[in-house]
Amino acid sequence: MPPRLVFASHNSHKRDEVWAILEPLLPGWTSADLATARDFDVPSPAEDGVTFAENALIKARAVCAATGLPAVADDSGIAVNVMGGAPGIFSALWSGVHGADEDNVRLLLAQLVDIPDAHRAAAFVCAAALVTPGGHEVVCEGRMEGSIVREAAGAGGFGYDPIFIPTGHEVTAAELSAAQKNAISHRGQAFAAIAPHLERL
Ligand code: IMP
Repeated sequence: MPPRLVFASHNSHKRDEVWAILEPLLPGWTSADLATARDFDVPSPAEDGVTFAENALIKARAVCAATGLPAVADDSGIAVNVMGGAPGIFSALWSGVHGADEDNVRLLLAQLVDIPDAHRAAAFVCAAALVTPGGHEVVCEGRMEGSIVREAAGAGGFGYDPIFIPTGHEVTAAELSAAQKNAISHRGQAFAAIAPHLERL
């Protein structure tokens, strides 16, 4: 049996986070129903869109075209108000090297060093895209509001989690459990909104 859906990512951590979000929303689906682009050896396309939504669609279209199966993709990042929404779509390579989480965090903290607490508002943003072989395309977005702290704290999560306190919480996203984070996260919201479209596949 082929999987019902292919997640357009080579990152197994992200795939597991997305499956944890989708599983309770998709009765009758099993983990084997969600494959990844790596399982099909689909190369990652150039992410040359200028919005999260465009980049998510680029990735989902590429995987759908290569596998002939419905594909989902996400594109996400952190948007800092005082920086006009940057790092935004450049979040993963903010320090110049794709996925260098510690360097990205260090650079962002240095850039904000003179900014007082009252002006350190930011949001994680995620666009989730679904593309089917029949040409059906849907994009859903989620946001998690919060603020940037001055020193990293917490060992959970990834990326900018250790320097981000979600609104209404006292600790960073890296100090929340995976379930606590998924319940409020940008990715949780975006994929929860995609789930009803997946049920109809
Ligand atoms: P993407 O994999 O192209 O969507 O890039 C997302 C980048 O944004 C990651 O490399 C992280 O730096 C950042 N990011 C996105 N979502 C999160 C999150 O939930 N926590 C921390 N960092 C995130």
